[in-house]
Amino acid sequence: MAKVAFIGLGNMGGGMAANLVKAGHDVRAFDLSEEAIARAEGQGAHRAASAAKAVEGAEAVITMLPAGKHVRQVYEGDVAPSAAKGIILIDCSTIDVATAKTVGEQSRGLGFEFVDAPVSGGIAAANAGTLTFMVGGSDEGFERAKPLLEQMGKAVIHAGEAGAGQAAKICNNMLLGATMVATCEAFAMAEKLGLNLQTFYDISSKASGQSWSMTSYCPVPGVGPETPADRGYEGGFAATLMLKDLKLAMEAAKASGAYTPMGGEAEELYQRFVDRGGGNKDFSGIIQMIDDSWVAPDKKED
Ligand code: NAD
Repeated sequence: MAKVAFIGLGNMGGGMAANLVKAGHDVRAFDLSEEAIARAEGQGAHRAASAAKAVEGAEAVITMLPAGKHVRQVYEGDVAPSAAKGIILIDCSTIDVATAKTVGEQSRGLGFEFVDAPVSGGIAAANAGTLTFMVGGSDEGFERAKPLLEQMGKAVIHAGEAGAGQAAKICNNMLLGATMVATCEAFAMAEKLGLNLQTFYDISSKASGQSWSMTSYCPVPGVGPETPADRGYEGGFAATLMLKDLKLAMEAAKASGAYTPMGGEAEELYQRFVDRGGGNKDFSGIIQMIDDSWVAPDKKED
């Protein structure tokens, strides 16, 4: 069992670190939030006084941070000066491809092995240990990271060199954002055309309009499997996080010269939904804006 430094114990990292503890690892936990560290400690992790202290003597470092700037800060300020050379560094945060590549190159230049390993699956999957990891890095880095990632997920897939995990993640989430919006539009129009929504679901989920957004995550309450739509669009994958991923996707499209008009449209619509107060709603809640020019109750007076 390994000595693992875990930095970033928020909604996702908290559950992931707990699963490593359950698997028998010695987890040294650090977060800027005292509450997050206390929760990790309650789940059997060892409290570290700083990120630098957490990585000292660790055989692997895992980061689960909000964005690229936090990852760069922790890598440059704490990991690089304090971790033992040769260990495996695994960044599971969702960040921009360019930062993932830079951090990867710098880490390898300093004698570390590095993989970017962003996840698909939300807080429930992080707690249950059923995440999907998309991994970018060398074959050796992948093989070294895999046993740890397997203890936090149900699938670990090697996407290519450093940065490829982030590339796969944002291409996937751009597709998800666009298909969710299109699915919402189809249901809203079906209703206006007088179709029964369950009947439309029964037909389209078996026809060529089928997608994950429809059959696994239907945005209409009472139709299909149970989803956040059945809970007033609470929980699930927050619209702010979908917007974050769409912004990362548009940045990557610009940098690589990819033409992504549907991704761009999805970004604009999610921006509008967040601006109208829908940021904490599940991302499928955008159906209420598409259907109804929806405004969150607390924003109605604005
Ligand atoms: P979160 O905000 O709940 O957690 C991030 C944690 O990092 C916080 O506890 C914060 O205090 C800590 N932190 C920030 N800077 C730090 C630093 N310098 N040192 C130590 N700790 C620091 O976010 P989350 O929902 O856990 O998401 C983490 C990452 O996972 C993000 O990149 C997000 O895009 C991605 N992600 C989230 C979900 C989801 O459903 N929440 C799903 C897939 C991917």
